[in-house]
Amino acid sequence: MSHPQSVADTVDDEATIDLLQQLVRIRSPYFEEEEITAFVHDWLDERGLDPEYHHVSEPDITGFEGDNVVARLEGSAPDAPTLLLNAHVDTVKIVDAWEEDPCSGRIEDGKLYGQGACDMKGGLAGIMVAFEALAEVDLAGDVLFTAVVDEEGPYGLGADALIRDGYTDDCDAAIVTEPGPILCQSDVSNPALVLGARGRYLYDVAVTGHAAHGSQPHKGVNAVVDAGRVAAALDELDVDSHPDLGDGSVCPLKIDGGSQTLSVPESARLLADRHVVPGETKEVVREQAEAAVAALDLDSEVDVGFREAPAADIYYGPYVTDEDHPLVRSLDGATHEVAGKAPETGYFSSVGDFNYFGDRADLPTVIVGPDGENIHGAGEFVYTDEVVEVARIVAAGAASYLG
Ligand SMILES: [Zn+2]
Repeated sequence: MSHPQSVADTVDDEATIDLLQQLVRIRSPYFEEEEITAFVHDWLDERGLDPEYHHVSEPDITGFEGDNVVARLEGSAPDAPTLLLNAHVDTVKIVDAWEEDPCSGRIEDGKLYGQGACDMKGGLAGIMVAFEALAEVDLAGDVLFTAVVDEEGPYGLGADALIRDGYTDDCDAAIVTEPGPILCQSDVSNPALVLGARGRYLYDVAVTGHAAHGSQPHKGVNAVVDAGRVAAALDELDVDSHPDLGDGSVCPLKIDGGSQTLSVPESARLLADRHVVPGETKEVVREQAEAAVAALDLDSEVDVGFREAPAADIYYGPYVTDEDHPLVRSLDGATHEVAGKAPETGYFSSVGDFNYFGDRADLPTVIVGPDGENIHGAGEFVYTDEVVEVARIVAAGAASYLG
């Protein structure tokens, strides 16, 4: 069997939804992923797919210890491409507002409910069954299956470790089955291929003033007032624009600091999200903020930095995947075969592990994932038919790309 359509046909609706339901029933907020990683590992193992645990350790900031699950299908031709299939196993912290069991996996009207059902256990089930289907086919290229921890946590430690430990070195392209269209910047619906994402830096700005008695504020330098001025200046930054990804943006998030009564506050700290488009590098956005601060001519000392990270290369850079890349063409063809129509094209509005693959690892990266609603919130659900459709598109597209 080698025709892409026949690979898609081996993806079974009921088995896929049953798997998704089991995944949703395992509580797996980030940093609490042991049970779900063991489940994914054992599911692959029971099918003879030779999974391995890949240890992830970040002792300095988070103290996190956990495991990704990886598995590889070896192709027959050494020169053929290697395709990365990626999904994350964690969810956000379970939100309080659920009016039912947040891990119920209840299905009603074609919607499967649960925290993480859409982001992204639907996509995780999709690459699991697609990988199982691909194992039954003769492929020229390799498939690297990766189910990673901590995408929803602060640093994407699972995907970071894959890159740091060389798993992506021999990969030529990546598919990430994150929920797609609902998180796109423009109005896009499935079937869709999401071909890029803005990046994001988090400004961490230290403002140091000078304390004085609060009854004589003119004798001090008020760090809280100056932090507010810096926030307003960042809010007005001139951001760049990209024809596909849209505009960069700035969102001041938080000001910490202050003093006791009757004292002029001597320190404050400002955090601001800075979403970026290609060309807006870390140095560019640092210089931009420094110039905006210099123009204010404040009496406080202002130090523009970025949030602390476990390593200097842990940040989300922007990327755009060429519409003519062979993987995109293969997924386009697979969408025609599976869904009977052309995929729409979109671009992601925020950041995730796909930025690490698309930017840091420099892999042409395509997001193709099932939609739902209430992502990260109470009442999160995924459309079950889209989960099956995505699994089939991934299987057929991968088989076509890998030959
Ligand atoms: Zn996600």
